[in-house]
Amino acid sequence: MRFYINPRNKYIEVYGEGREGIIIFPTWVPGSYVIRDTERYVVEIDGIRIGKNRFFVKDKFRYLIQALSKDQREAISTSDYLFINPASVFPFQTIEEEYCVKINVRWPIHTTLKKVGDWFCADNYNEFADSPIQASPKLKLIEIDRNHKISTIDELDKPIVESLGKCTFEIDQNIFSDSSTNEYIFFFRRSDTDFGGIEHERSSSIVISWNYKDLIRLFIHEYFHRYNVKKIRPKDLKINYESETYTELLWVAEGLTEYIAVIVPLRTKVVKVDDTLNYIANTLAWLTFPGIRRMSLAESSYTTWIKYYRRDNNFLNVGISYYQLGLIVGLIMDLEMIDSGNSIYNFFRELYKIREYTYGNVRDIAEGLGVQNIDELVFSRNPPIFNRLSKFFKLSFVDKGFPYCGLMLDNKKVTFVEDDSPADKAGIIPGDEIVGINGISSSNLNLECKDKLELVINREGRLIEFTIIPDGNPGHNLVIKGNGEIFKKWSGGIEYGEGKSNIRII
Ligand SMILES: [Zn+2]
Repeated sequence: MRFYINPRNKYIEVYGEGREGIIIFPTWVPGSYVIRDTERYVVEIDGIRIGKNRFFVKDKFRYLIQALSKDQREAISTSDYLFINPASVFPFQTIEEEYCVKINVRWPIHTTLKKVGDWFCADNYNEFADSPIQASPKLKLIEIDRNHKISTIDELDKPIVESLGKCTFEIDQNIFSDSSTNEYIFFFRRSDTDFGGIEHERSSSIVISWNYKDLIRLFIHEYFHRYNVKKIRPKDLKINYESETYTELLWVAEGLTEYIAVIVPLRTKVVKVDDTLNYIANTLAWLTFPGIRRMSLAESSYTTWIKYYRRDNNFLNVGISYYQLGLIVGLIMDLEMIDSGNSIYNFFRELYKIREYTYGNVRDIAEGLGVQNIDELVFSRNPPIFNRLSKFFKLSFVDKGFPYCGLMLDNKKVTFVEDDSPADKAGIIPGDEIVGINGISSSNLNLECKDKLELVINREGRLIEFTIIPDGNPGHNLVIKGNGEIFKKWSGGIEYGEGKSNIRII
């Protein structure tokens, strides 16, 4: 199929050419485990609607699609900027045919699609859908090195660009020994919202806010997906553009990628050990809530379409993130492998030989490299992560036993109530607004939870009184300290480090 596009402000006008018959707009974009229904952006079309995302068209047809999404999984078109994630803009007829696009702008255009005359082409729809397009009169290409570039309309500090080079080198050379890699582009844009990133085989798209703290980790997470997900993938993670696809292995695809994004910047000395341990401490702290007793790592992967990607403010009570628990399982795997003279780098080199893997492959490779009983980490609800980590790190819960209510707040609004906590027993629910404390109206709220609290709550416009009797905190915030031989190998030669979590629960 061929598409000739006229970008306009807020819309993209598309002239399509294919065979007379059915065209199908994807209902989700690969890499994002939620049905996004981006076909809802079609606003005009020369064709007969035969389903929510399917149309019958002549061999030539025109459509207009709304392009106002700042999300890098979708598309935006303005008077001086164009970004397209093709799966959210272009339909397909069959997967295995050539797809080309011609873009009617006089601006610089960056994409990993092949340039054929005035057209940009891919051999099939999968490759086409996986190749974003960015264009703007202000667009520039920042070179990290010969094969790695950043396409952006913004500025990036030189030290960050150099740090990225060290990390991509570590992944290409020291993990995969792959020096034949083609050009890779980071499509990067600063925004007013942290949308995060999405991986493609030869690029990734990253949209984050100006104050984003963890930029290196996000870039390296997306870069590692070039291998883990794009070249190495769960055997059952098949792409079907119109329906959900299930695997219990997203913790390998995402959680272990998140671990690599933490450990590679440490080992290349791009990030300090205490910053790394602070991040690990916070990740562990998020795994101290009731959700870990109700959902295993495998279940978290399997149910992501209906649970993690659609989580609400009770999620900490009912589930866990396969990013967070997957990161910690990656840490445990790496430490146990180092203890046996290997490391998680060996694990990925072995998985790279298999390419399409099953859980059996993961278990065999991990246990062959020194990991003890991986089943209990993956399939148990309430897996013994603290127990297994305590062999390598000194862990202490600093708030355990201190008086607490079990509440998280955003100013006066309750954002979370821990199950079975004093606040839960008193009857507080998320969304409640605290308007009075112990007979005083709360304007500038600095709520402490040490003694009995008489609260006046605004719930749906009604005022209700509650009494909370504080009780002992079960332990959420922790300090993690490491030293010794294994720690030194793990950290890339550092003798000692410590980190502390800072979750605000009162
Ligand atoms: Zn990811």
